[in-house]
Amino acid sequence: MNLEKPILIREDGLRHDGRKPDELRPIRIEVGVLSNADGSALVEFGRTKVVAAVYGPREIHPKHMTLPDRALIRCRYHMAPFSTSDRKSPAPSRREIELSKVIREALEASIFTELFPRTTIDVFIEVLQADGGTRTAGLTAASLAVADAGIPMRDLIAAVAVGKVDGVLVLDIDELEDEYGEADMPMAMMPSLNQIVLLQLNGVLTREEFMKAIELGKKGIMEIYRMQKEALSKKYLQYPEVE
Ligand code: ADP
Repeated sequence: MNLEKPILIREDGLRHDGRKPDELRPIRIEVGVLSNADGSALVEFGRTKVVAAVYGPREIHPKHMTLPDRALIRCRYHMAPFSTSDRKSPAPSRREIELSKVIREALEASIFTELFPRTTIDVFIEVLQADGGTRTAGLTAASLAVADAGIPMRDLIAAVAVGKVDGVLVLDIDELEDEYGEADMPMAMMPSLNQIVLLQLNGVLTREEFMKAIELGKKGIMEIYRMQKEALSKKYLQYPEVE
């Protein structure tokens, strides 16, 4: 770890990677990338690369976990051992257990689980490359994988992290900004319903900064949501050419 703090906001007002404060990293979204899963998606936010796979609704094992009135949602967020610069232990860490839980709770809010009682929907999120924002990229991918599996949803979930670096609020922070910045606020929404399904804050923001950070996050989320819908259309709205 480099102990000297890098310059995060340059003299020209841009960020260390040349982005404006309200600019997302280049985003790539692809739906249906795994043929063995019922639904899948790949999401890249800059160097952060995440794949999500969904199985179900299907029979539950072990049986005693069955819920009589709705589907059980299980979620595993996992970072591949090769996803970080220092090799990460493949065993689930406390952080991965926490992230699996908050991601599951967010997904639960978006899925009509009552339509599939006594079944399970299993969601796997695999971080292939980590450069900050893996929970938000993971949730964005998982939501698309659920949609790709044909499971009825209230809305897609789009997510991004807002941060504060060198006193400036910035959209979609990367690992360097997360490590040396003053605050990290991941947020996720069902955009059409204007409903927040995940909001965390690491660090300190004033009340005014917090309100501004929410607005900045919403702006990013609307852009991501548009790209999500585009990626779904690319897979599902391919009409055969008329002769
Ligand atoms: P998020 O990935 O959602 O931003 P954190 O804020 O916990 O979650 O992590 C920020 C970044 O720190 C990650 O995206 C990753 O690049 C890096 N990181 C997290 N855990 C580890 C780890 N065990 N080893 C190396 N780097 C890690």
